[in-house]
Amino acid sequence: MKYLSCKIGDVVIGHGHPIAVQSMCNTDTLDVDASVAQCKALSRAGCEIIRLTTQGLRQVEALAKIKERLRAEGIDTPLVADVHFNADVAIAAARVAEKVRINPGNFSKDPEVARAKFAALTEVCRETGCAIRIGLNHGSLGERITAAYGDTPLGMVRAVMEWLQMAVELGFLNITVSLKSSNTKVMADAYRLLYKTMGEELGMIFPLHVGVTEAGAGDTGRIKSVVGIGTLLREGIGDTIRVSLTEDPVCEVPVAQKLRELAATDAPAPDATSFYVDASNHDDFIIRGAYLAGPALLDGKIDDFSMRAKVEGRELSSVEIDAFKDDLMQACRRRFTKPEYIACPGCGRTLYDIQSLLKEVMEATQQFAGVKIAVMGCIVNGPGEMADADFGYVGEGGGKVTLYKGGTPVMRGIPQEEGVAKLVSLINSTLNK
Ligand code: SF4
Repeated sequence: MKYLSCKIGDVVIGHGHPIAVQSMCNTDTLDVDASVAQCKALSRAGCEIIRLTTQGLRQVEALAKIKERLRAEGIDTPLVADVHFNADVAIAAARVAEKVRINPGNFSKDPEVARAKFAALTEVCRETGCAIRIGLNHGSLGERITAAYGDTPLGMVRAVMEWLQMAVELGFLNITVSLKSSNTKVMADAYRLLYKTMGEELGMIFPLHVGVTEAGAGDTGRIKSVVGIGTLLREGIGDTIRVSLTEDPVCEVPVAQKLRELAATDAPAPDATSFYVDASNHDDFIIRGAYLAGPALLDGKIDDFSMRAKVEGRELSSVEIDAFKDDLMQACRRRFTKPEYIACPGCGRTLYDIQSLLKEVMEATQQFAGVKIAVMGCIVNGPGEMADADFGYVGEGGGKVTLYKGGTPVMRGIPQEEGVAKLVSLINSTLNK
């Protein structure tokens, strides 16, 4: 088996190299000052790879200015252009960024066009040393793949394998791959299947960028990320990780660093059901607790567990442990006692203050246990990536939002200030039918 590495600026990931922690700016990339400030804050926090939204050629120009400013200040953290689907933008970005992220689900519907554009992109990357991430998300599979395999881990793997096959034929191997989902089970199954399939069909393992997408915020966002990423890291799957939170991206870095640290320690026996955590603070407790018990719960190896924990020397009460247990059971998709929030972290495409909005939605919808509610920042990627949700709130821009029910837009152009109340009425009227 050939284990490949991927060089992103001065950071090398892949077999034998340390796991790199990464995050993504949620600034408007055209706002160079704000983006530089956030990159600096991320770099200071220990983020080793930084991604910025790069949806058009104007953003590529802004990215060049951001990079120049950072390098002038001695900050050499590699920058990744998050392009998604525009091949010309990807090619231009490959002359500026250290890595370009494309999404095979929406790069081009026509396989021949996709192949030609990908070949052109790899030519530029070869010349500039730029790496490529083939970044597919559950819910953004193309029509052809969805028709053949459904929106499943197998469909995700088959979509990515077509691109890896093309890369091998083109002789371009400076690539990482991601297959994210907000569903921890789908995400873990997809990465495992991809790892196995790469070995069987290519005889080589490309480095993997691992993350749970649209994990949300606070304890539940952290716990979901730890369950999904931690399960894979324990199996040796994952070369760079991103914890996606609907918060300041700087908050993502210590969670990812802690996960990386835990992955280097001994895992408990797979069927262990009793755990003890001695934690330095609340976040340390939930990260350690979820890392210890989550993987076995996710895989159905255990059905329940008991835990004792001390946080800053204080023994947690059974009420506190039970609250954590509820969150962990839900993150592992074993017991649903609360609404399930699917919320994107926000990025340069976000069309409103998603962090406050998510808080508002959570406060107004606590009564809907088991209902999946999505809060997404943009109309471009939001609707596809919340495919799993029962209801969705998606920013349209211009102070307007669209509400979704079961993946279909049912109310468009709603003024943002009326959005949450209308969402609650929509859920109520649907559930009470
Ligand atoms: S859904 Fe849109 S706003 Fe949210 S992270 Fe994805 S691209 Fe950015």
